[in-house]
Amino acid sequence: MTAQTMSAAVLRDGVQGAPLDFSRLAVEEVTLAPPGAHEVLVDIAYASLCHSDLSVITGDRPRPLPMVLGHEASGRVVEVGSAVNALSVGDHVVFTYVAACGHCRFCRVGRPALCSEAGAGNAAGELVSGGSRLTDASGATLNHHLGISAFANHAVVDAGSLVRVPPTLDLRAAALFGCAITTGVGAVINAAKVQLGQSAAVFGCGGVGLAAILGLKAIGAAPIVVVDVKESQLALAKELGADITLVSSATTAAEIVELTGGGVEHAIDASGSLPAIESAFASLLRGGQLVVVGLPDPTAPWTLLPASLVANDVTVRGSYMGSCVPARDIPRFIQLFEHGRLPVDKLVGTTIPLSDIADGMSRLHDGFPGRIVVDLSA
Ligand SMILES: [Zn+2]
Ligand SMILES: [Zn+2]
Repeated sequence: MTAQTMSAAVLRDGVQGAPLDFSRLAVEEVTLAPPGAHEVLVDIAYASLCHSDLSVITGDRPRPLPMVLGHEASGRVVEVGSAVNALSVGDHVVFTYVAACGHCRFCRVGRPALCSEAGAGNAAGELVSGGSRLTDASGATLNHHLGISAFANHAVVDAGSLVRVPPTLDLRAAALFGCAITTGVGAVINAAKVQLGQSAAVFGCGGVGLAAILGLKAIGAAPIVVVDVKESQLALAKELGADITLVSSATTAAEIVELTGGGVEHAIDASGSLPAIESAFASLLRGGQLVVVGLPDPTAPWTLLPASLVANDVTVRGSYMGSCVPARDIPRFIQLFEHGRLPVDKLVGTTIPLSDIADGMSRLHDGFPGRIVVDLSA
């Protein structure tokens, strides 16, 4: 196939120091190059708005602009490059935001989320094999977000960015498996390694925090304590399986310690807020573990007294992409969904057209409960 034109949501540079302006993200006519030998052309069905997209707009996660945003998505394979054997035309797929190379030091030890080649490509706004497949109406290059750029009718990505899913899987729910579910459920299973009957607290009820609640519920954690700044978010958390919900305050950690008889065995921060991370740490039971999955301001330091690590035998760790192996974990999470143990579809808050993308980002920023999903299936 030759290059094609399509609609895509492009984020343009803003003025340094200007207030947050969501109109910098607008739908434009964009040209998409055909797939290279190791690449795949996908017709996007659904793409959700994630805080990682928002972080590029706010600058918390600086990326080279202009860029077509979007990375949590599902679709159908339209064309495969000559060297792609694992996927065929017509396959249903979800995207993963680290296109693991398979041969770097991290891929070799089974940690593809840390792939150095994909990490370099993502930071540069390029595909893992180098360069961009996107240009604007003037012929200028547009960068890829996380090797994907899914807020568009089509995407050309490395075959390593895709995981095939059953054709019977609802494509709207499927989109969430690529990021929110991988990150949130993965943090519970792969990073925290929560066991049946252990207590846990989740801080932050965005898509990842809500997914972590589903993961904790599926694995049989109890009680599941959930903290957020907004009452509306906590209502959804309760519906998904939270046993105790708390509106965050200066006394949150003390309340958790009191309610759980000494603190929780696992705390998961999915808020990316430094006060929440401090609160999560302070809510741990002795011997407990904090897993940080939210993306805080990259310049904000955290003051931690190392003596407290020793005296309380506690662990603090981060988790990127839920420390997942997507080809292993996504099919497992889909099985749980299909048998009613991981109701991913309940995370979808609303569905919008691509033309409403800037307004959708503004609503995400304001704490809209549940995932906002762009319908590109028409
Ligand atoms: Zn994401
Ligand atoms: Zn690698």
